[in-house]
Amino acid sequence: MQYKRILLKLSGEALMGDRQYGIDPDRLAEYAEEIKSVIDKGIEIAIVIGGGNIFRGVAGASKGMDRVQGDHMGMLATVINGLALQGSLEDAGIQTRLQSAIQINEVAEPFIRRRAIRHLEKGRVVIFGGGTGNPYFTTDSAAVLRAIEIHADVILKGTRVDGIYTADPEKDKEATKFDFITFDDVISKGLKVMDTTAFTLSQENELPIIVFDMNTKGNLLKVVTGENIGTKVNL
Ligand code: UDP
Repeated sequence: MQYKRILLKLSGEALMGDRQYGIDPDRLAEYAEEIKSVIDKGIEIAIVIGGGNIFRGVAGASKGMDRVQGDHMGMLATVINGLALQGSLEDAGIQTRLQSAIQINEVAEPFIRRRAIRHLEKGRVVIFGGGTGNPYFTTDSAAVLRAIEIHADVILKGTRVDGIYTADPEKDKEATKFDFITFDDVISKGLKVMDTTAFTLSQENELPIIVFDMNTKGNLLKVVTGENIGTKVNL
């Protein structure tokens, strides 16, 4: 196995499946199977889940809502997604713990780094909800932060696109995919992988990111075993 401990970032939108809003139970069940295949190989896996399928603070702010209020709603949305993901993982027979960056003790443990690491060592999947717990951040930043804190070997950003391209492959047919790219090249070419705060945090801490297609069966295990799919961002 290439990696012992991974941090998987899933966006809220990924949970929508083909829907326009909310959570698709079939998609959740598919993800649970993917995650199980990795757990069964003895890999430790923590997940940061987004909330964009329910609410984003910037969207509220663009309609006149107070940004911080909106971000609080967004953070709560990630906890809702975390609960849904937890349910599907447990249905698949995986032990899990949900830890939230905002105190919501009846439904999730508070984020405690050492406890999270202990859960991972015991083979539990740890889901981090609530983002960083602060407004004006994203769950991409939370993913990098948590990955550093738990000493993950890599950040796996599961998307619906199979890597980083020279241009948006959904809009430009000429776009070509990178197998490897450096942090500096991503910045100088103006490519979009994560928001800048998240990306520079990863670079400064020398934590590689792999962007891959999470919606193709078997891909998560392939990435973890070191198969060259997706795009790896490294120093
Ligand atoms: N959010 C926040 N602080 C964080 C993480 C998230 O305020 O540390 C809020 C923010 O409003 C964001 C929303 O939660 O828009 C959902 O997170 P994100 O947009 O990162 O979700 P994704 O795009 O991954 O689904």
